[in-house]
Amino acid sequence: MSSGGEPVEGWGYPPAAFVAHYFGPDRRSLCGRWRYAGALGRTAVTKCRRCERLAARRAGEAAGEKRDDAGRGGGEPAGRGRSGPR
Ligand SMILES: [Zn+2]
Repeated sequence: MSSGGEPVEGWGYPPAAFVAHYFGPDRRSLCGRWRYAGALGRTAVTKCRRCERLAARRAGEAAGEKRDDAGRGGGEPAGRGRSGPR
């Protein structure tokens, strides 16, 4: 395996793009619109929103993000004290 010192993924500015896109090891942007083989950085000033979101999600998955249990408190309404004759 070739081990270059450069990061294999990160933010890059394709010449025709106005904002930075996040490129993976395959040299394609996460949003799928760009290809770029130039230098990549860890941060960028203006980022493609879609790439930013996907990159964040990606990072979250890599870090083993925990999910909060959203469905908590499935409590039934407290029984109304039925005081019927038995
Ligand atoms: Zn993008």
